[in-house]
Formats: sequence, structure tokens, C-alpha cells
Amino acid sequence: MMEAKRLPEEYGSLVFGDKVMRERLPKDVYKAVHKTIVNGTHLELDVANSVAAAMKEWAIENGATHYTHWFQPMTGLTAEKHDSFISPEGDGTVIMEFSGKELVKGEPDASSFPSGGLRATFEARGYTAWDPSSPAFIKDGSLYIPTAFCSYGGEALDKKTPLLRSMEALSKEAVKLMQLLGYKDVTRVNTTIGSEQEYFLIDKDDYMQRKDLLFTGRTLIGAPATKGQEMEDHYFGVIKPKVSAFMHDLDEELWKLGIPAKTKHNEVAPAQHEMAPVFETANVAVDHNQLTMEVMKKVADKHGFSCLLHEKPFEGINGSGKHNNWSICTDTGINLLDPGKHPEDNIPFLVTLIAVIAAVDEYAPQLRLSVASAGNDHRLGANEAPPAVISIFVGDELTKVLDSIEQGSVFKGGAKEKMEMGAQVLPHITKDNTDRNRTSPFAFTGNKFEFRMPGSSVSVANANIVLNTAVAEILSKITKELEGLKGDELQTKLTELLKSTLIDHKRVLFDGNGYTDEWIEEAEKRGLANLKSLPDAMPEWISDKSIELFTSHQIFTKEEIESRYEILLENYTKSIHIESLTMQEMVRKDLTSGIVAYEMDLTKEIIQKEKALPGAKATLEGKILKTLDEASTQISEKLESLKAKTEEAEGIEDIQKQAEFYERTVLKEMNDLRVYADQAEALIPDEYLSYPTYGQLLFSLR
Ligand code: ADP
Ligand code: MG
Repeated sequence: MMEAKRLPEEYGSLVFGDKVMRERLPKDVYKAVHKTIVNGTHLELDVANSVAAAMKEWAIENGATHYTHWFQPMTGLTAEKHDSFISPEGDGTVIMEFSGKELVKGEPDASSFPSGGLRATFEARGYTAWDPSSPAFIKDGSLYIPTAFCSYGGEALDKKTPLLRSMEALSKEAVKLMQLLGYKDVTRVNTTIGSEQEYFLIDKDDYMQRKDLLFTGRTLIGAPATKGQEMEDHYFGVIKPKVSAFMHDLDEELWKLGIPAKTKHNEVAPAQHEMAPVFETANVAVDHNQLTMEVMKKVADKHGFSCLLHEKPFEGINGSGKHNNWSICTDTGINLLDPGKHPEDNIPFLVTLIAVIAAVDEYAPQLRLSVASAGNDHRLGANEAPPAVISIFVGDELTKVLDSIEQGSVFKGGAKEKMEMGAQVLPHITKDNTDRNRTSPFAFTGNKFEFRMPGSSVSVANANIVLNTAVAEILSKITKELEGLKGDELQTKLTELLKSTLIDHKRVLFDGNGYTDEWIEEAEKRGLANLKSLPDAMPEWISDKSIELFTSHQIFTKEEIESRYEILLENYTKSIHIESLTMQEMVRKDLTSGIVAYEMDLTKEIIQKEKALPGAKATLEGKILKTLDEASTQISEKLESLKAKTEEAEGIEDIQKQAEFYERTVLKEMNDLRVYADQAEALIPDEYLSYPTYGQLLFSLR
């Protein structure tokens, strides 16, 4: 265990970060790299060579024999292929080599990664390109180099490339705005993310005994335990010793990798927990979240646990999400979503705030889609996570401010005067004033927005790509109107613009309880989209509006958008297909053998009892046997029909229609089957089942 006082020393000890670079690189090389990291400028090959040499030396000193270009293909997972540093000398000896070229560019065989239509039209081969702004690190004896993954034609085949492009687009537009507003020293704006990660821990042996968890990440059958989360005794509860040991180990592993793990606690559901890091620059935060998920699984395994990252591992129990805390900060240190202490900061804050409101309203379907997955569909709108309708919570105080902007008056603690943008438009909003609304999908929380819809297992890249691009688009519209204006003219135009933008988009603001049916009705009246499932939302991804947004800011080409459309749909149908097959097998083999064995014993029991005690009636046993028999008749029927529908689904050519069929028919059949499977399971003693029950899975950890 790491000694507490050694933490500052150990923190980031496996990272080739700024400190190591400053120590090990020649001054001019360090400066060049630093400039690349901060400003995103191009890096010359001689600089790369020098960095590679230092990296290799450092990596070998820290036990690495290999290096790998680490990337994030469109599977949403990470990918790696390891090369050793060795280079044979011809006399039976080797030297350790690593060149700038090898650092900057790699050529993994891309043909087995999903590329949507891109593979057909372009060369299958892809290349990886170093992302110097995300630090390299050592893991399992390899030097990991974060990279972007593209096709030879330059099409993005990953999640990092469009994320970097979206950060660039947002920076460009935000810098324009700041320049217009007189902040001449702002040259770059950074997106920051803190992603809180929820997860479940269950016993590893239990996990291994359930095919559904093994193959699909969630339970497909399972009668509820007699206790669920109704006692509300788990949230922030005392952490059990074994879990605490896991969390401790997890923190240490993350810290060594330079991941700023900050907060840990028990979540609402039994066996559910959360880890929140300190926020970082968006692409680093996304890399770190991917790494966090991986380390969580590895450390869990070491502690005899299995870490479940699925959005809905258990029916009737809260699922897991990943809150995406998001803000934008200038290179001069101004957080554009921080109302700040000085009234002169009001304007950038207000413009940004209103731009975000407009962006979220205008591109709500794209934002909804950015978090769509087969797993997350079970969560959104299930009274535990925000609904599928996107709305924004800003809190009482900001609502008053926005009201006064709409009415053209100054907000001064209630009193209304003529609005003057330069002056004291805003009261000082303290963080504590932003009351919490846990039911809002998109909430202002003092100096950032918290997007609560992302699922626990997915990369947060998608959500941030859409968010950054949508806000960039609104900002670009605003700056276009302001260009060339100065002084009073600028102020008048800006006041007008903020007012009209707000009026156009205020329908998305909602501070009430997002979990109620009334809100869903109200949202419909307001014309807000309610895209309940991935197939419902998919057509929006390839709509003209969507293509216009992403192509105009050079985030995606039309082909890239279409390829992602295909991949998402395919991934969705494959997930449900595997779930259906797994469920059929579990019911047919595992559950049925339990039913049969118990029925046999019950029958024997009844016969023996009635023989031993003439005239006695085995009423209870008889009742159970009868109910079990009825349930198994239903199970048999439902099983047949699930099988038939799944086969039918497989045969559908059109991928959109196929996904819809899986959602509306196959999933429904699975739910129908589950009702009877769970009824039967509830009657069978645990020892007759070859897999652990909900009670065992959720409450056995000590
Ligand atoms: P909580 O929501 O639990 O009260 P905080 O509001 O302090 O906790 O932070 C929640 C998450 O938001 C953390 O990951 C934190 O680092 C992150 N966060 C805080 N400030 C910012 C910011 N400016 N940009 C992005 N994320 C932020
Ligand atoms: Mg939160």
C-alpha cells in the first residue's frame, strides 16, 4: 500500500508528463512540445525524435520493454498493439530503439475495426497519429502513446479525432467572441470535463456462473430479491471493508497513472459505487475515463470482484451512468461558465450561458443520440436517470437573471431597471445558490454544466463532440452578427441578440421534477423531442440539419456521419441479438434444469408424504408444483416465440428497420419471457439453480 506521505511523489509516476519532460528534454525541445500541447501547433520531426529518445529511456528505466499506440476505435473501447523496443544487431545481440517516426505514426491493421461504409470506399488500412496533448504512460510493461486513428484518406475511424476537432471548433468560435468583447489576450479556449463514473461490484465467482453477465454485461432473468434499494440505506453508506480495500487500490493505480481520482462513495443501489475525478482538458479526461474503466475491471479482478459497467445490470435496481461535467476555460484562466466575482465578467458568462441553452435546445436530438446505446435505453426515462427528453436546469437565481434579460431590465435582487450590459447585470452567484436538481438531464451547477444522460459503459467522447460542436455553431452565429460593431452599437446588438436567442430557446428550460409524467406531457406541448430509444433517435443523426452542423465545423464529413450511423445501428442490433440468444440458452438449460429437478423432488415429496400419512394432503407442495408447472408451460411458449422473432429479425435487410424490430419486437418478447422465468425462479430454492440469484449477487459482499 502506498504511504500517504509519498502520494505527491507517486502521483503520475507512470506518466511521461510535463514534469518528466521538463527534466529530461533539452530546453528548446521542451518548449516546442509545450507549445504543441497548449496551442495544438504542428510538431517537427527532429523534435519528435528528441522526445522519442527521452521517452524510450524513461520507459525502459520504468520497466517497459514495449510501446503501443493506444487508440479508441468506434467500438467505444480502446485498442492496442504492442511492439518491443528491440532491434537485432545481426550478431545475436539487440539494442533498444524508438524513433520519432515510430512515436508520431503507427500503422495497425485497421481492417477488423468497425468503419461503417468507410472501409468499402476507402483503403482498409488506417494509421494512428500521436496526440501529444494527452500524456504517454506505462502500463503492464508497455509505454502507452495516446493516438488518434484515421484512414489513409484522412477519415476519422475513432472517437478521439472528432473530439479534438470539436474542441478546436469551439475554441475558434469562443476566441472570436472574446476578441469581439475586448478580451484581446485570449488566443485559445479549452473544454474541460470531469466525468463521474458509476459501477457495480459483485463477487467474481457469482459473475462467472452467470452467462448473461458474462456475455451481455447485464442480467436477463432473475427474480427480485426480497430487499432492493427501498430502504435507501446504501447511498453514501459505510463502505464495506472488502470494497474499501478495492477502492483504495483503485485510487493508487489511478494516481500512478496521473488520473486525479478524487471522490468515492456508495451509490443508491446495493453494490453500486461511484468514483469522481478532478476535471481535466476534454481529450485527456476522455482518455483517462477509458483508462479508469479498464483499471476498475483489473483491480476488481484482483480483489475477487467483477466490476459491472453496464448501464442496467439489474432489473428493478438503479442503473449506472456517467455524469459529464463540462465547462470552457480561456488560456487566460477565465471559466466562461463561471459568473465570477467581477461584474465585468458578466458578459462572456451570459453569452456562453445563453449559447449553451440555445445549442442544447437546437441540437437536442443529436445530444440524445450521443448517449444512445442498447444499454442506456434501459436507463433513460426509467425514473432513476433523466428522461429521454432533454431539458436544462439553471436554478432560481439564474432564472431571474434570464427573465430580466428577456424583459430588457436589470436584475438587482428583484428590482428591475433598464438593462445595461456592461454593468452589474449579474449578482454574484455563489455555488451554493445553484440548488441541485438530480432529475434534470442537463443542469447548471455553479461554474459548469452537468450532462447526466451518458451511460456508464460508453466513451464520453460522443457527448462532448456534440456539445462542443453545437455550442460552437451558436457562438459562430452570434459572432457573425457582432462582427465590425463597436461600443454602444455592439452593446445594443448583443443585448438584442441575447434576448431573442433566449426567447427562441427558453422552452428547453425546466426546473421541476423531470421524472414525472406531467413533465413528459408538458415537454410534448413545448415541442421538445422525446426520443425514447436508439432506433427512434437514429434518423436524426443523418438529417440534413445534423450533416450541416458537423460538416460546416469540419467535425465529420458526410461519409463519416453515415459510417457512424451504420456502426451505431449494427452495434445495437448485435447487442440485442446476443442478449436474446443468451437468454434463450439460460432459460432452456440453466433455469429449466432447476425447474425440472425441483419439480421431481416436489413430486416425490408429495407421493411419499401421502403414502406415509394416508389421508394427508401435501397442499403447499401441490400448490407450488402447480404454479411452477403453469409457469413452465408459459416459458415454453414464450421461448418459442422469442426464438422465432429473433430469427425473423436476423433476416431484415434494412438496418434501421432491423433495429426497430429488435427494439419493438425482440426486446418485448424477452420481457414477456422474463415475467414467467422470474415467476418460476422465485419458487425454486437457490440450491436447485446453477446460477446465483439477485439476493446473492447484490447482498453477499462483506
Ligand atoms: P458534486 O457534483 O459531487 O458536488 P463537484 O461539483 O465539485 O461535485 O464536481 C463534480 C465533478 O465536476 C468533478 O469531477 C469535478 O472535477 C467536475 N468539475 C468541477 N469544475 C469543473 C469545470 N470547470 N469543468 C469541468 N468539470 C468540472
Ligand atoms: Mg454529479
